[in-house]
Amino acid sequence: MTHQLYTVEQLQAKSLSELKTIYAQLGASVEVADKRSKAAWVNAIVAHQFSQIEKVELRTEDDVTFTDIDGFYNFEARVNGEVIAEISHDAFNDEEPWYVTVSGVEVFRSSLWCESTDWVKQQYVAGTLSKHQQSQVQVLTTREERAATIEVLEQHGDEFVVHNCENDHYYVVRPNHVEPKERCECADCHYRGVKCKHQIAVENYLVQRLEKLITVTPSLDELLDLPFDQLTATEWERLREYEPDESVELVAA
Ligand SMILES: [Zn+2]
Repeated sequence: MTHQLYTVEQLQAKSLSELKTIYAQLGASVEVADKRSKAAWVNAIVAHQFSQIEKVELRTEDDVTFTDIDGFYNFEARVNGEVIAEISHDAFNDEEPWYVTVSGVEVFRSSLWCESTDWVKQQYVAGTLSKHQQSQVQVLTTREERAATIEVLEQHGDEFVVHNCENDHYYVVRPNHVEPKERCECADCHYRGVKCKHQIAVENYLVQRLEKLITVTPSLDELLDLPFDQLTATEWERLREYEPDESVELVAA
């Protein structure tokens, strides 16, 4: 959003309340030395305008440098030594293999490396790069959703073989591996070190299995105690086949 730039003369011609309105409209946060003084409001607005111009002038595309961090198509975009974004290559995506992440969150994808670098530069200059991080929740939901299309095929100790029905790829998942980037073979995990959909699928699989184990089959005694309308068909069947042990009953009586 661009605002009109006020000259000192223009500001001096305004009333105190008009100055307060302008100050608020500009989103200024410069301290006003004396809130009853028109001159103080004028000074604050002028100071705010200067700080804005400075910010705009500070950002140019040339500030952004890209460094190959590991020789495996992983690049860091830096400004004054600070990482502002990362660009990586997703070998499993033929259409748009280059993706940009900000703090581990994917914010942009492209077929070309140079499109990704240009995008980062533009976003940096516009000051909007961090805004894309807000899509984080969205990305996570999508991963959870995508996990539903992953089938856990085999387990060998700590290793699981999973199958992605969508692209017919197989991956080995090691959920307990100490190194997060080694927990799955996919690019999502390997390059970004995030909990990918394959790991989520294995986690869901283990939780489901655990839930099955916890739901222990009730004993016949427990079934006899249940109100009859809570019994399932198979439980009815079990009760029908049940023959009370006379001797035990006699002892109990
Ligand atoms: Zn994975």
